[in-house]
Amino acid sequence: MTEYHEIKDLYDSERKALQGIRFAMASKYMTKGATTELQEDDLKRKFTDEAINRCAEIGLVVDVLWYWTQLRCAVCSFKTGKDILFNEGESCPSCGSHEGDWHAGSPDCSDDPTDNNLYWNPRIVVVGRTEKMQEYDHDQQKHEVRSGLLDGKAGEIREDGSFREDAKKKNFFT
Ligand SMILES: [Zn+2]
Repeated sequence: MTEYHEIKDLYDSERKALQGIRFAMASKYMTKGATTELQEDDLKRKFTDEAINRCAEIGLVVDVLWYWTQLRCAVCSFKTGKDILFNEGESCPSCGSHEGDWHAGSPDCSDDPTDNNLYWNPRIVVVGRTEKMQEYDHDQQKHEVRSGLLDGKAGEIREDGSFREDAKKKNFFT
């Protein structure tokens, strides 16, 4: 295991780079089928190595999870009108219940009822940074949110950390 430093939060620029890696790797490996267990293990190892190396290039230490299940708390989801999700083995962030309906996971089956294959849906989980970083720099994150780095949506982070679309934006057009 590579040595790493604890991560407090990710910058939007890092999230964006991660999205790019996930997307590039999904499209690269999606079309590769495996007919034997040996081929399957080989593909999994290649995917894992590539994910770890690509993320190391942007300074992040990651794990690749091949088996995971995400549950949805039916009660809280109904109450809030949003999907309240948590990982298997953890508890609902809202009510603390361990009970939930299956929401997503890996391996997973196809949406096509005639397709009986199982599909891997690997998750890339950030566990740390390769370099020791000083305190999480909120000014840098605010700057990145303002410039809409992650979603192309410029805005402001309020003091409580929530996001507000850029109020100054209208000034550009008047
Ligand atoms: Zn709940």
